[in-house]
Amino acid sequence: MKFGGTSVADSEAISRVITIIEGKLKEQPIVVVSALSKVTDLLYKVADAARDRDVDKAKALVDQLRDRHIDLVENLLPAGDYRYEADSAVRSICHALTAFVEAICTVGELTSRSQATIISNGELLSSRIIGIAMNQRGIPTGYVDARKMIIVSGDPMKGDPIFSEIEKRVPEEINRAFQGHKAVITQGFIASSLNEQPAVLGRGGSDYTASLIGMAMDATAIEIWTDVDGVKTADPRRVACTKSIEKISFEEAAEMAHFGAKVLHPLTIEPAVMKNIPVFVLNSLNPTSKGTAILQSDQIEDGVKSISFKEKIRLVNIFSTKMINVSGFLSKVFNVFAENNVSVDLISTSEANISITLEEGQDLEKVVKQLSEFAEVKVDDDKSQVSIIGKNIGTQRGLLRWALGSLSNTNVYMISQGASVVNISFVVDRDHLDEVLQEFHNILFDY
Ligand code: ADP
Ligand code: ASP
Ligand code: MG
Repeated sequence: MKFGGTSVADSEAISRVITIIEGKLKEQPIVVVSALSKVTDLLYKVADAARDRDVDKAKALVDQLRDRHIDLVENLLPAGDYRYEADSAVRSICHALTAFVEAICTVGELTSRSQATIISNGELLSSRIIGIAMNQRGIPTGYVDARKMIIVSGDPMKGDPIFSEIEKRVPEEINRAFQGHKAVITQGFIASSLNEQPAVLGRGGSDYTASLIGMAMDATAIEIWTDVDGVKTADPRRVACTKSIEKISFEEAAEMAHFGAKVLHPLTIEPAVMKNIPVFVLNSLNPTSKGTAILQSDQIEDGVKSISFKEKIRLVNIFSTKMINVSGFLSKVFNVFAENNVSVDLISTSEANISITLEEGQDLEKVVKQLSEFAEVKVDDDKSQVSIIGKNIGTQRGLLRWALGSLSNTNVYMISQGASVVNISFVVDRDHLDEVLQEFHNILFDY
């Protein structure tokens, strides 16, 4: 059971979460918690201040962090031993963090590893407090530090799980923590390298932690508890009249997340698929709602399920007459992207032109320079990508006609349908994104 930031935002939210867990004790719940809502953002600011060697600002931000958690402890726990334990834990974590950022300010260099160390503190704080509150509410709860079992390699800010280690360590740690307890709590998001250096799984990574643990434990279900009634037909913050989806396939959910739906971390589905474990997306603010079940594809009907988008993408157009009838041109182009570690999203080609989309924030300077040696290159920065997701949508006759028909006021710069036929994506002007989302949604779901 994973509870996200808004589900553990304050004492009321946490009390609700504990009641939800109480109802599941027979199933031996493993509870994975995120940092309190907005805390990870605050920790990023702490790291920025440390990088800028602004020690006063960094310390003031850590004080803010400490005060928010101390207030939480006071509201959540009655005066007595439990409150004392939680209060001491908060003070000691924040004290260690202050010492760490002071050291970074002195050294004057913030490595990825140090950044990961700083932003891990949100989950360390929330898990300690919630674990103590569960015990106080009469649920004997064991505690595991996720860094002992979620082992990753690569970039410490976006660790790459080492599945063999995780599959070995998770059962060892969790089974040990269950002894004498009815539930176990651990942190989402945070991890460590093989040589015990801190790391994290990337923004929104707590979902991924939950599915990694679910896989390693052969769990009967992976529950992602959030602040909406399951996966919806589009992002409810951007589109009016969205509906909850009762069930979707692993592939559809993975594709939705990959193409921008913020409700799940894009890699959450992969470990669940490996063991065919159903994933449920549920609402901690409305626990009786059915939410969404994410299941094997053969249990899911064909058809459109949802619309995802990526607001800020870049569209790269590569034009060359040399491409015509010359084998190896494409590989030459993609080698340039690969050599520069730039990952591409959508691709579409015609006789003399290749269009590629990629997420903003990747450095394209070298790529453009190298491509320009053998082709004309144009980069557009004001585009967005909209994807219609659904099982076998390629076979839904008329879908493309419908969709394009609704775009009469908007230019479409690229259309791409993956071979998997789970998505059709469009590139449109960013200025028109909201309009396109709503029009697609009206046409596809408002009947
Ligand atoms: P948590 O803190 O629980 O991990 P997130 O903010 O990461 O929560 O994800 C939940 C949010 O995802 C919802 O509040 C919703 O606004 C957003 N969202 C985006 N696309 C979708 C979608 N298709 N279905 C449901 N929610 C979505
Ligand atoms: N706290 C982390 C974040 O805000 C991880 C998560 O919430 O899933 O990105
Ligand atoms: Mg999330």
